Amino acid sequence: MKLLVIGAHSGDFVWRAAGTIAKAREEGAETLVVALSYGERGESGELWKEDPKRSVESVKVIRHEQAQRAADALDTPIQFLDWGDYPMLLTDARVEQLTNLIGDFEPTVILTHSERDPFNPDHPLAFQAVQRARLLSSGAGVPSAFKNIDPPVWYSFEPHQPELCGFVPDTFIDITSVMDQKRAAMACMGAQTYLRDYYAELASRRANHARRISGQKQIQFAEAYQRQVPRVTGSIF
Ligand SMILES: [Zn+2]
Repeated sequence: MKLLVIGAHSGDFVWRAAGTIAKAREEGAETLVVALSYGERGESGELWKEDPKRSVESVKVIRHEQAQRAADALDTPIQFLDWGDYPMLLTDARVEQLTNLIGDFEPTVILTHSERDPFNPDHPLAFQAVQRARLLSSGAGVPSAFKNIDPPVWYSFEPHQPELCGFVPDTFIDITSVMDQKRAAMACMGAQTYLRDYYAELASRRANHARRISGQKQIQFAEAYQRQVPRVTGSIF
C-alpha cells in the first residue's frame, strides 16, 4: 500500500485528497505528496492581497511552510519540485524527473488532477505530466530508459467545478474517521481560507451520495475520485 499524491500547486492535495491521505496513513500505508509548484502566482490570492509588493520568493516561502504543516497534520512526507505556476510548463527534463520519482517510490496508487479544467491552465498539465511519467515508469515503449515498476492504479481527485471538468466520480472514500485531520490540514492553508468551509461541505455532500449508493449509514464525510484505468479483478464479487 503506497499512495502517491501529485498536485500542480502546493495546496491542491489538502482540499482534494487530505482525507484519503490521512485514511491511508491510518491503514498503515506509505504515502508521499508531491507539489509540482507552490501555486505562488495563481493560488495565493490572499497573500498578494495582504501585501501586493511582496516578492514571489517570499510567497513561496510562506506557501512551503503552510503546505509542510498541512502534510505534518496528515502524517505524510511532502516534496516540492518548484516548477513555477501560471503558466506551468512541461519540459523533457521535468517528465524525466517525475518518471524517476515514480520509479523510486513505486506507488500502488496515484492521485492527481482531472484531464480537463477550463478554469485552471496548470491542472490539466499536471494530469498530462503524471500520465506520461506513469507510462514511462511502467515500461511504455522504452523498457531500457527508466526503471520499470508495475503500473500503478491512478485516479483523478475532485476538481473545483466537477461538471465543467468532465469529472464523473466512480469511487468514494469514507474519510469520517479522519475528518478532523482534514480540517486541521485545511486550517494550515492560510492563503486560501475561503476554501475551508467549501470543502468541509463538499465532504458532507459526497458522504450523502456514498450512503445512498452503498447503504453504509455510518459515512459522514467522503472524498470522490474518478478512476483512470479499468479495475482488474479475479472475481466479479
Ligand atoms: Zn491547483
